[in-house]
Amino acid sequence: MSTKTIEEKQYLTRFKADTKSHLTILDHEICRETCPDKICTIFCPAEVYKWEGTRMQVGYEGCHECGSCRIGCPQQNIQWEYPKGGHGIVFRLA
Ligand code: SF4
Ligand code: SF4
Repeated sequence: MSTKTIEEKQYLTRFKADTKSHLTILDHEICRETCPDKICTIFCPAEVYKWEGTRMQVGYEGCHECGSCRIGCPQQNIQWEYPKGGHGIVFRLA
């Protein structure tokens, strides 16, 4: 049995993105003023969060639905839900 790297496994994922984000930054001011480390840009394995200087951009289309941002944001500033039925990540086994 071969062992795949994380990158190889990620290559097997596909996404069916909804038009509406299932991830919401509740207050951009909190990110700006109280969170110097912007730790969501580090713990998210899919690099969904990108700090744009004044605002957090959320590339929800690539979310792996791991749920880490529900507990990882020290300010509990991310509202997380599962994508609507039929949308989101599709894992393929190979
Ligand atoms: S970890 Fe939370 S508070 Fe900090 S930048 Fe990310 S979303 Fe904002
Ligand atoms: S659920 Fe996981 S992959 Fe999706 S945005 Fe949160 S940390 Fe990133």
